[in-house]
Amino acid sequence: MTTSDGARPVRAARGTQLSCKGWQQEAALRMLMNNLDPEVAEHPDELVVYGGTGRAARSWAAFDAMVRTLRDLEDDETMLVQSGKPVGVFRTNTWAPRVLIANSNLVGDWANWEHFRKLEAEGLIMYGQMTAGSWIYIGTQGILQGTYETFGAIAKKKFGGSLAGTITLTGGVGGMGGAQPLAVTMNEGVAICVDVDESRIDRRIAKRYLDVKAVDLDDAIARAVEARDAKRALSIGVVGNAAEVFPALLEREAPIDIVTDQTSAHDPLSYLPIGIDLEDMKKMSEKDPGYFTEQARESMATQVAAMVGFLDRGAEVFDYGNSIRDEARKAGYNRAFDFPGFVPAYIRPQFEEGLGPFRWAALSGDPADIAATDRAILDLFPDNEHLRRWITMAGERVEFEGLPARICWLGYGERHRAGLRFNEMVASGELSAPIVIGRDHLDSGSVASPYRETEAMLDGSDAIADWPLLNALLNTASGASWVSIHHGGGVGMGRSIHAGQVTVADGTALAAEKLERVLTNDPGTGVIRHVDAGYQHAAEVAAERGVRIPMQENA
Ligand code: NAD
Repeated sequence: MTTSDGARPVRAARGTQLSCKGWQQEAALRMLMNNLDPEVAEHPDELVVYGGTGRAARSWAAFDAMVRTLRDLEDDETMLVQSGKPVGVFRTNTWAPRVLIANSNLVGDWANWEHFRKLEAEGLIMYGQMTAGSWIYIGTQGILQGTYETFGAIAKKKFGGSLAGTITLTGGVGGMGGAQPLAVTMNEGVAICVDVDESRIDRRIAKRYLDVKAVDLDDAIARAVEARDAKRALSIGVVGNAAEVFPALLEREAPIDIVTDQTSAHDPLSYLPIGIDLEDMKKMSEKDPGYFTEQARESMATQVAAMVGFLDRGAEVFDYGNSIRDEARKAGYNRAFDFPGFVPAYIRPQFEEGLGPFRWAALSGDPADIAATDRAILDLFPDNEHLRRWITMAGERVEFEGLPARICWLGYGERHRAGLRFNEMVASGELSAPIVIGRDHLDSGSVASPYRETEAMLDGSDAIADWPLLNALLNTASGASWVSIHHGGGVGMGRSIHAGQVTVADGTALAAEKLERVLTNDPGTGVIRHVDAGYQHAAEVAAERGVRIPMQENA
């Protein structure tokens, strides 16, 4: 049996007609289906949502069983999902999550791709990535805000607040990487984006994430320089292998200011090595995964060496959370860690405040509901100019994929206010149906990931995974609608443990109580994690906003 047996197009229901026994279950059902909507998922037939092989369900039979179970699930029952397969239903209580999910978790010594793939081939496990297996993927917009924040932080750090007059080079315009061109142009810069798969480039152009496709490398450079000189924002797609194009650009002394990459490097079987045609990629990787991995790592080392070459020339270079540095290191390249990951370089101060990607989707399917929530956010946080700029631009420029949704970064003490307001708007009829509220796992308190979220922590606690587990337990105890614990995610096997939560604003008084707790406590774990690691700003935030920490003075 293959993962595409039983494949068919899936789309979440819209409107207020329930097919489940309550909105909590209906929300989980719609978000599972929304993850697999062909407009949302990168390879829906294979149940792959994004990130190489990140799946929402283990098989189509498991998908069908989850749909049946959710439709039958009572308001005081909980469905357990083990790597995309429903394995049990238990009586719990109305405050408990309706679904508890564990994806891709393996015991330490076995937590490698080789063992994972063996189990996957036997149908025993699936790769859940982050929001794929936790049913809160909202298309490329989900990563857009974080990418916009990252490029904004670079603009602030190095280029006087704007990327106007700069050229960024990056690889990969897939489900996540596709946010890069728009994030650069939103920051007024020029981007050259390299992808081996022309259909990915065309898809991003169709969705207005990418502006144009170059005929070749010379054309790309010429267009980039012309736009840069005119201080005009422009994103340019180039079809090619990043392991060939990056060194070629270095050799031509292309005037690149910023370099990063978001190919699917975390999984060497999803990165196309030099010398293999795209059409043969799947066949070759299945035939001899060991050889393919070696080839992919070697190509990654070539690409990373070119990135270090740009670094030596003074460019701003960073790893964008796909572990390409570690893969290059495994191929024997010893300067791979010369450039930093994006979290310690730009994002950590935000994590200290519990700031991170807060997202929501309208179960009505009506874009007017998102427009109303956008207005509510601006109304709630009138003094936050950065937030205003983002929400306004997102309203104008972001095309919805699947159910209409929005993302913005809110921190401790802010998220629950938004959640409660949305719940009131559902109750009053201002919104036509409930809203689901969740977040990415690229987050301040729910992730242990030494090459990404927890790289270079002050106290050296990068690899301690107690924190995400506590986060998941706390969200479960606080009333989240579904909670998940994952291993691997965006950085690959053995490199991260992370947790997700989604909570439904259905307009009831019970939902308000749950939202207040979950949306306070969830970012609260980000604050305490950073206080514990010794971050001063986090300690100030905790003291000012009343986060109780037993061994701190403010307790
Ligand atoms: P994806 O599989 O949807 O897209 C990857 C793209 O890389 C594809 O379009 C593919 O054609 C292209 N590609 C593969 N090999 C290439 C090569 N040699 N040269 C040029 N292009 C090549 O994956 P995605 O969802 O876009 O995720 C990309 C990476 O980013 C993954 O490793 C993912 O885990 C990681 N990620 C990062 C973050 C973050 O916050 N920075 C978040 C989530 C995921």
